[in-house]
Amino acid sequence: MDVTLPALKEVGSQEATHTFSIASAPHEGALMVATRMRDSSYKRALGSLPVGGEVLIGPPQGQLVLPEGPERPVAILAGGIGITPFRSMLLDAAHRGLPHRIVLFYSNRRPEDAPFLDELQQLERRNPHFTLVATMTQMERSLHPWKGERGPIDLAMLLRHRDPGMAPVYYLAGPPAMVYALRSLLTGNDVKDADIRTEEFYGYG
Ligand SMILES: Cc1cc2nc3c(=O)[nH]c(=O)nc-3n(C[C@H](O)[C@H](O)[C@H](O)COP(=O)(O)OP(=O)(O)OC[C@H]3O[C@@H](n4cnc5c(N)ncnc54)[C@H](O)[C@@H]3O)c2cc1C
Repeated sequence: MDVTLPALKEVGSQEATHTFSIASAPHEGALMVATRMRDSSYKRALGSLPVGGEVLIGPPQGQLVLPEGPERPVAILAGGIGITPFRSMLLDAAHRGLPHRIVLFYSNRRPEDAPFLDELQQLERRNPHFTLVATMTQMERSLHPWKGERGPIDLAMLLRHRDPGMAPVYYLAGPPAMVYALRSLLTGNDVKDADIRTEEFYGYG
């Protein structure tokens, strides 16, 4: 959904609106967005909003919803803050006890940079249909222990954790360069365009 900051609109800024994914699940009762704070005019204005300050939000858009039927497994490929729409979908699937088999490939530089990692690890323990494959690309700069995957999401990693049943439907979100690279990896390996849903987080280079 589009989130407009009235403070920027009043000074005539063209950059008063940013698009954000809804990170909360419907049952949580409040709308949540999550972002990386950076030194842009929008993020500065966002950071100085008081608690209870007003923003304008547009209607929800997009196609990141689970398939109606549970027959096809779901493979989610997320980079960093690209996790936001999937947090919503994963919490909703667990809350409603949906039978969809879901594998989340979640790539970050380090565990300490990975939004919602603890929560996703807990969710994996709660939902037997959900597998978390978190991978770290810069563990040499981390102070945390890490026993999971390392390196960027690649074909070998996807195959190592592939569901043995039907071919999955793929969902991708993150920085545009990552989404484009993963989409071409998939289409280059005979995944049909119709089986890939993407959301590019423009603004993250
Ligand atoms: C569908 C969608 C969902 C998103 N969900 C999230 C989310 O959940 N959390 C989150 O943090 N971010 C999300 N984003 C990205 C978000 O809208 C901002 O672009 C991002 O937060 C960077 O903002 P910034 O103020 O840090 O940088 P900015 O200074 O606004 O942007 C940095 C650079 O990106 C360019 N840019 C900005 N927007 C676009 C655009 N639409 N197309 C092409 N270039 C552009 C700017 O010209 C600038 O050069 C989403 C984007 C899309 C399209």
